[in-house]
Amino acid sequence: MNLDQMTALIRNVADFPKPGIVFKDITPLLSAPGGVSAVTTHFERAIKELCLEPIDAIVAIESRGFIFGAPLAERMEIGLELVRKKGKLPYQTVSRTYDLEYGTDCIEMHIDAITPGKKYVVVDDLIATGGTAWATCELIEDQGGIVAACAFVIELSFLPGRARLADRPLVVLISA
Ligand code: AMP
Repeated sequence: MNLDQMTALIRNVADFPKPGIVFKDITPLLSAPGGVSAVTTHFERAIKELCLEPIDAIVAIESRGFIFGAPLAERMEIGLELVRKKGKLPYQTVSRTYDLEYGTDCIEMHIDAITPGKKYVVVDDLIATGGTAWATCELIEDQGGIVAACAFVIELSFLPGRARLADRPLVVLISA
């Protein structure tokens, strides 16, 4: 499946979850045979082009990042680490709070998820303002890990997500 075919399988849902937001619904892409596999293939190719050194693990962001992070870790034969909303992980955690349009949110990882000096690729379905991915990068880097790249199926290019991630290398399959 090429990127145009993947783009055609992303549904715009107006005014969800609140008025004025156009939600990028990836469920038609997941329903299509080969959809998840196509994302995995495109991610793997782009990451290999961008990151010349081996990657140690994928860091997937709850919840739709898990859908793409897990098969990518399997395909690349590397580990998978989970970033979750506060209160969901069972063991001891490290956390990071970040700004939303209104208010703040908090993400967590297990304290033993990141090994200093190892290289990580952050995966999520979509980058909007970049706050979630930024907080994830900060968590990894605070613990001595290296963010080799951040990979998203969709970028909302009218929002400043890319700038928020500063110099961290970016993989984006579809720009909307
Ligand atoms: P942000 O932190 O603003 O970059 O938001 C990214 C997170 O929110 C991702 O986990 C996305 O799944 C979700 N998200 C934000 N905006 C949208 C949107 N318009 N459509 C679908 N998901 C979104």
